[in-house]
Amino acid sequence: MSKIGFIGLGNMGLPMAKNLVAAGHDVTGFDLSDAAKSALVAAGGASADTIAAAVAEAEIIVSMLPAGKHVSAVYTEAEGVLAQGDAGALLIDSSTIDVDTARGGSAQAEAAGFTMVDAPVSGGVGGAAAGTLTFMVGGTEEGFAAAKPYLDIMGQNIFHAGGSGNGQVAKICNNMLLGISMIGTAEAFMLGEKLGLDAQTFFDISSTASGQCWSMTSYCPAPGPVPTSPANKGYAPGFTAAMMLKDLLLSQEAAGSAAAATPMGQRATELYTQMADAGDADMDFSGIMQMLQKQ
Ligand code: NAD
Repeated sequence: MSKIGFIGLGNMGLPMAKNLVAAGHDVTGFDLSDAAKSALVAAGGASADTIAAAVAEAEIIVSMLPAGKHVSAVYTEAEGVLAQGDAGALLIDSSTIDVDTARGGSAQAEAAGFTMVDAPVSGGVGGAAAGTLTFMVGGTEEGFAAAKPYLDIMGQNIFHAGGSGNGQVAKICNNMLLGISMIGTAEAFMLGEKLGLDAQTFFDISSTASGQCWSMTSYCPAPGPVPTSPANKGYAPGFTAAMMLKDLLLSQEAAGSAAAATPMGQRATELYTQMADAGDADMDFSGIMQMLQKQ
């Protein structure tokens, strides 16, 4: 049993922390929300009033926060993790954040005597609750090996993507591809329907032909062919357009700093910005099909 400090008990962090509790670990959580902390206590964990109290004597410190600025603050402020944690602790940041902040934060942590890995996830709230997340891990071999037993509790597929920041690189490249492929899939169904080809017939053909992709076969944006997809429940999320836009913006920031041309990623970012600006940020990202249908 390890002593774990867990910072950020939101939609993802709370179920992840609960799985660590269920596996027998001694988990103390901190969040700005009292309700989130109470939910962890109800599940058998403990809660703390400060980051310092959450990380005191912790061997493992996990964070699951909204964006890079929150991660920087939690780690580097005077009452934060690096100042208050026990040097030698293993730091696992599972937030989706920009590559530069991930790499800079890891360098600062190593300089302060900690081992740190970036370990963003895919799999959503359902995967967090079921303990079936995919983790994409950046860091040293030693850091990965130390983190793996804990990631195995919270996830199912654990990949070492390379050095510090590479977990975030894998995450944003995957989600940039997902955004592009979702728009492409929606365009194909929309065009087919406008030309008189019904969605099920197109699905039957394309899902066994060269247009096949995850956005079609597991998450079809047209209602009908895939019963579990959000298209069949009014595009209730799922994975919101706002979350897709966050990851696409991170991909474009990273493409800029690497001088990489990503014209399709850029166009996908513009289209999800349009969807969010139209008031549909909280709709599932596959709802971009409706936006295309209206144009
Ligand atoms: P969320 O907004 O539900 O949770 C974030 C939590 O962090 C909140 O409870 C908030 O109170 C807390 N927080 C913010 N600042 C804090 C601070 N300074 N100290 C302590 N707590 C603080 O977000 P989420 O959906 O749980 O997502 C967390 C991360 O996981 C994000 O980076 C997101 O991009 C990523 N992610 C989310 C999903 C998903 O489906 N929700 C999927 C994959 C990755």
